[in-house]
Amino acid sequence: PAGPRPIIEATEVSRNFGAFVAVDRMSISVREGEIVGLIGPNGAGKSTFFNLLSGVMRPSRGRVVFDGADITKLSPSKRARLGMLRTFQLSREFSRMTVLENLLVAPQVQLGEDLLPLFTRRREVDEIERRHFDRAKEVLAIAKLEHVENNRASDLSGGQKKLLELARTLMVDSKLILLDEPGAGVNPALMKTLSDMIQMLRNDHGKTFLIVEHDMDLIASLCTSVTVMAEGRTLVSGSFDEIRQNRQVLDAYLGG
Ligand code: ADP
Ligand code: MG
Repeated sequence: PAGPRPIIEATEVSRNFGAFVAVDRMSISVREGEIVGLIGPNGAGKSTFFNLLSGVMRPSRGRVVFDGADITKLSPSKRARLGMLRTFQLSREFSRMTVLENLLVAPQVQLGEDLLPLFTRRREVDEIERRHFDRAKEVLAIAKLEHVENNRASDLSGGQKKLLELARTLMVDSKLILLDEPGAGVNPALMKTLSDMIQMLRNDHGKTFLIVEHDMDLIASLCTSVTVMAEGRTLVSGSFDEIRQNRQVLDAYLGG
C-alpha cells in the first residue's frame, strides 16, 4: 500500500512561549506531490508551526524529519540545502532591488551565503554566472513577470510581489516549498496566475507544497489535503470536502 513517500514528517512538535503552549504536540506528514493546506482561526498556532518546520524557531519538543533526515535542529539555510525552501517577504533591502536582481540574489539569500561579494558586482550583470542569469529568465517566464523584470520590487502590485516571493524559491533546487499566506493581498486575476503557477510546479516540476492560507477558495482549488489547526493542535485533516463538513471546523471558525 506504499503511496508516495513522506517528504516531511513532524512528530509531536510543541512550542511554548513562557507558560503558554502555542503549538501542542502537532504532527503532520506531507507526501511527495501533495499540496497540503494548513488552515485555522487566528491564534491557532499556524505561523508558529510553520516557523518550526522552516527552522526559523526551534521546537520545545518533538521531531521534524525531512526526506529521511532529522532536521529538528538545522538552520533554515541548511534546510534549504537539503531541498526545503520557504518564501521570504520582500524586506526593505530587497524592495529597492529590481525583480531580476531579486532572482539573481535568491540563491544566496536562501542558502544563507554572504551577500557582499554579489552586491559589489551587482551592476555588472555579465559577471554574474550565466547559469543564474539563464535560470532567472526561465523563472521570470514561469512567474509571468518578464514585463516587469527591471522594475523595482517595491513598485509591484501586491499580487506581483507574491509571485516574486514564490519565483525566488525557484532559483534553487527544491523538493518542498513552504508558503505563508501566498494569497494575502492578491487580486482575483493574479490569484489565478498564482494558483496556476503552484499547480504547474507540482504537476510538471514535481514540487510538494505546504501552504498556510486564509483564502478558502485558494485552499479548495489547490490542496490535495487540508489540516485544520485550533489551539495549537490538529482539529481534523482530510480533503477539503471532508473538512468543510466537520462540525468542529465550523465551530472553530465561527467561535474564533
Ligand atoms: P496563527 O498564525 O494561527 O494566527 P500564531 O502561531 O501566530 O497563530 O500564534 C499562536 C499563539 O501564540 C497566539 O496566541 C500568539 O499570540 C502566540 N505567539 C505567537 N508568537 C509568539 C511569541 N513570539 N511570543 C509570545 N506569544 C506568541
Ligand atoms: Mg499567522
